[in-house]
Amino acid sequence: MNKQHVFITGASSGIGLGIARLLGQQYEVTISDCAKAPLMAAQAELANEGLAVKTQLFDVCDAGHLADLRVLADEGGVDVLINNAGIQHVQAIEDFPPEKFQQLIDVMLVGPAMTTRAVLPAMKKRNFGRIINVGSVHSLVASAYKSAYVSAKHGLLGLAKTVALEVASSDITINTVCPGYVDTDMVRNQIKQQAEVHGIPETEVVEKIMLKNMPKKQFVSIEELAGTVAFLIGPYARSITAQAITLDGGWTAQ
Ligand code: NAD
Repeated sequence: MNKQHVFITGASSGIGLGIARLLGQQYEVTISDCAKAPLMAAQAELANEGLAVKTQLFDVCDAGHLADLRVLADEGGVDVLINNAGIQHVQAIEDFPPEKFQQLIDVMLVGPAMTTRAVLPAMKKRNFGRIINVGSVHSLVASAYKSAYVSAKHGLLGLAKTVALEVASSDITINTVCPGYVDTDMVRNQIKQQAEVHGIPETEVVEKIMLKNMPKKQFVSIEELAGTVAFLIGPYARSITAQAITLDGGWTAQ
């Protein structure tokens, strides 16, 4: 049997790269990202570990790149789409630069909608597809000063529910994984910023700010997130669609 193809956005680092590392053992994986050098470095890192993946320069906001994705999908190149690309900006709403707000919505809500739009016709034709959105605990609850991020991540759940209904008659599912904090570059940058703002060591930021809402007091690991994605795209999750799968160490139980 031919291997299924997985296309992952924002996969040069962090969660996307971790998902590629796990799925690469079983699937044909294309890692994509908006900058070439980190993408090539990620491919080399995986090659060093004995894993061959393809690369595609892909900005989720670029119309030309979206058209390329449509072609790739139409040619049979996308069985599984993982919408992972993301960015963060933390600021009070009254000071939030409008163009920054728009950028977060474009990358984390409009982007996933447009990639989904690009791959669905081929998935429908072949009566198979799995789409995973990397949401966040911030798809379910809010934190102050993250208005754009929270809005985009909440929106992803509405997008998934809507698309799930539109494709319900085919073997296509769309789900959103919602992790609490995961130790990646994105979070390391926030830890650094918070340490500067509050004048406290980074270890204290992790303990008192980052893990404050996570009763299990540990970061979600990239591996457990990747394993959850593997389950959701695998044969035992055919009826799981339109769901938010939460890995938050108990955050939303409070
Ligand atoms: P990361 O910064 O390591 O990875 C994000 C990737 O997205 C980067 O490689 C970046 O180049 C890429 N990207 C940014 N803009 C892009 C664009 N326009 N087109 C294509 N790629 C683009 O961060 P991460 O923590 O691995 O984040 C991955 C996803 O996980 C994001 O959607 C993020 O919101 C989500 N998430 C992260 C955490 C966490 O604690 N780290 C928690 C919940 C959800």
